[in-house]
Amino acid sequence: MGTRGREIIGMNVDELLKMLDEAFASEWLAYYQYWLGAKLIKGPMKDAVAAELNLHATEELNHANLLAARIIQLGGNAVTDPRRWFDLSPCTYESPDDPYVAVLLDQNIAGEQCAISAYKRIMDATKDKDMVTYNLALTILEQEVEHEEDLQSLKEDLELMVSRANR
Ligand code: FE
Ligand code: FE
Ligand code: MG
Repeated sequence: MGTRGREIIGMNVDELLKMLDEAFASEWLAYYQYWLGAKLIKGPMKDAVAAELNLHATEELNHANLLAARIIQLGGNAVTDPRRWFDLSPCTYESPDDPYVAVLLDQNIAGEQCAISAYKRIMDATKDKDMVTYNLALTILEQEVEHEEDLQSLKEDLELMVSRANR
């Protein structure tokens, strides 16, 4: 990256790159979990939920894009071997083996909550040290917060529907 751009970073660039690689690996796993879940999903409200899962998949892929750009700017090369995704990711990949709507929603809510914590940690680590990465983490965090809320409100609608139907 540009020499002045690197000079203004007040922290160890290798440590920074490690955090960004971990987030990058997580985004690919999140993308895949959403992408496949949207295809396998079964049960009430499946079309509405599938639309949201698909949208989130594209947004996770965009997060991977944003992270890759910053990693490369910092002199890294992102994660060249996808086999490392599982080791690097701070969040668990949850296979959509049970396609029931509520199960997929719970799995993805857990993923979002892990992502929120991970971007909060990146923000804490880069605050006053690397404004560019801090701002990037904030941009992504805002979307992860939105994702969690979207899924929790779909879960709430689903529960209301199921409990009313059983009255
Ligand atoms: Fe994401
Ligand atoms: Fe997300
Ligand atoms: Mg959404």
